Amino acid sequence: MIPGEGRPAVARTREELDKLLAEVRASGKSVALVPTMGSLHSGHLTLFDRAAALGDVVAASIFVNPLQFGLDEDYARYPRDLGRDADLAGSRGVSLVFAPDESVMYPDGAALVRVSPGPLGERLCGPYRPGHFEAVLTVVAKLFGIVRPDFAVFGRKDLQQAVLIGRMVKDLELGVRIEIAPLVRDEDGLALSSRNAYLSDQERAQALGLSQALAAADGLFRSGEISAGNLIGRFAEVAAGHPGLTLQYAELVDPETLEAAQSVTVGTVLAVAAFVGRTRLIDNLVLGAKVLDPRIPLAKPVEAKR
Ligand code: AMP
Repeated sequence: MIPGEGRPAVARTREELDKLLAEVRASGKSVALVPTMGSLHSGHLTLFDRAAALGDVVAASIFVNPLQFGLDEDYARYPRDLGRDADLAGSRGVSLVFAPDESVMYPDGAALVRVSPGPLGERLCGPYRPGHFEAVLTVVAKLFGIVRPDFAVFGRKDLQQAVLIGRMVKDLELGVRIEIAPLVRDEDGLALSSRNAYLSDQERAQALGLSQALAAADGLFRSGEISAGNLIGRFAEVAAGHPGLTLQYAELVDPETLEAAQSVTVGTVLAVAAFVGRTRLIDNLVLGAKVLDPRIPLAKPVEAKR
């Protein structure tokens, strides 16, 4: 296995993985892990770039974790294509892909002992996805135990997940350095997500209301508005111009504690979730950030009709 040289080694079992990792460790190299559910897009690829800057060897895991999907969620239809994902990962410096199936991850059935997210898990998405964060933390803790990475990279697209994982590593002393990479958007402003593949053209046009409404709230903040009510109001006003969006929440939060922001300042995050048809989308924006997105700027804010 030569780091960053085209097609990665793909391990489907613990034995295959352990053999590959033993080689890496014997050569004294550090490992940066990027956990994913596959169906890779440019957002994932920037996580690989970040991982390559941190570790000698970049490993990606690809596992659609059944336990983190609710009964009415999209586990069965979640897109899966290991061949494509391995090629894409290899093209961006990943030399090791761990793609276990359920029997490898849960040889004795679902883990009996699990990681409780505590109060942070009850914020934002928590009430709408019962059990989700417990399942995410448990599978990430398992992946850390299996791979024993020096670094792990997560995306700010899933802000609550990233914050919870950082907190898990701190509180449980897991000894992995966690990096949170910026959120990557498509050229039209939509936050990249594997779930965007579900959207019809019409639904996608409606989904754009999320990033446009976030940009509008950010624009208002930049013009001096610091009232949480007015900023959320501006978000809701622009989002309402897209009747296909059914908002679940829009909250101004402290990016570290996820608590409702007491005062809105540069760095406060506006975190939102909405359904478009059957597809649930999340997005967030750091208010007043110096750079909106270094690679792909947000679509121009749409002026709300008065
Ligand atoms: P997923 O495959 O959706 O579970 O995501 C795997 C990792 O990629 C998570 O850390 C996500 O936060 C991250 N990710 C997904 N979409 C994006 C995006 N648009 N920008 C940055 N990171 C992302």
